[in-house]
Amino acid sequence: MLIAWRAGKLIDASGADREPDYQCPACHQRVVLHRGRVVPPYFAHQTLGDCAVATEGESLQHVLGKRQLATFFTAWGVPTLEKILPTIDQRADCWLDRGDRQPVALEFQCSPIGRDQVATRTTGYQGMAVFPCWILGERYQRQHLNWGLVDRFAWRMPGWGLCLLFWDVSQQRLRLDHHLQQTAVGKIVATTSWLTAVDDLRRPRQPAPQPPVDLTTYRRKLTLDLLRGNTGLRLIQEALYLLGKNLPGFPPVLSTTRGYLPIFGRGPILWRVVVGAWIFSRQTQWTVSALWQLACEGLALVGGHCAGGIRFSGRAALRLALNDLLADLVTAHYLHRTTTGWQVAVKPTWSQDGRKWLENNERK
Ligand SMILES: [Zn+2]
Repeated sequence: MLIAWRAGKLIDASGADREPDYQCPACHQRVVLHRGRVVPPYFAHQTLGDCAVATEGESLQHVLGKRQLATFFTAWGVPTLEKILPTIDQRADCWLDRGDRQPVALEFQCSPIGRDQVATRTTGYQGMAVFPCWILGERYQRQHLNWGLVDRFAWRMPGWGLCLLFWDVSQQRLRLDHHLQQTAVGKIVATTSWLTAVDDLRRPRQPAPQPPVDLTTYRRKLTLDLLRGNTGLRLIQEALYLLGKNLPGFPPVLSTTRGYLPIFGRGPILWRVVVGAWIFSRQTQWTVSALWQLACEGLALVGGHCAGGIRFSGRAALRLALNDLLADLVTAHYLHRTTTGWQVAVKPTWSQDGRKWLENNERK
């Protein structure tokens, strides 16, 4: 920690003397000033008791980053390092007081943290009408974009779409991964912008175009994954086998090149294949609510997340994907609109054997 209590005052470690009686501002136990050659001065509890806000063994990155972020965000509000919030047993790494506007709690996350803990802290701040702003350190910057990151830390920022924020301590700049989406084949992608001033956040940038989805490569990969016994596909393949279908032989109308919010687990195409197979095998008349149930069931089967993440909902994205699928099926004359919903007209044709499909296509 950077701030300790002594003789009725809050003392910043950067200007502190080696005195014997510093206290933790939260639990009032004794803390000791550490002044090494590498890490700038910080305080640590002498013995790890049951302090609610203790985060010992702070890394150089975390100590430096907190101060850099306080400076970077000054244009947004008056920063306070390590503000203690006793009602929720929390200590914000940096707090921005913005007068009449909603205060912001910056959390500079450098160490691993579980989903439950992120959710508890996030709802704790929200319950106090404070805006929680998670900014991720180096360990997270090295990761490929994945659901674990999006689920815990992503939120929608006006003009920027769904976003993740990272702080680069060595360059002292903000990395913004914005317009997060999942490609049709399941890859989570984003556009990365580097911001050197906080006011850059007020000037949203356009998403960069993503490389086109190669459906032939995708079908080949599905076939090979199944031949290799990829366990992630097993449940999907089993559900289709029950209907006499073979996953890689799905009809072209169930394919898509569209991307969506990253809630689709193994990807929007697999979701469309599963839901499409069910639409044409379970019944011939569909209502809006029955199709919505099917959409949710399909999402669960492909490992998706209808509820979305801690800070965003997935329902709108699922509704959009369902509307797209139905529109494609109507356009291709497999479904008709009726007054109460949809009616199956013709069943799309599946190819029987993925192995044969692979051989035919590899020969070309
Ligand atoms: Zn303490």
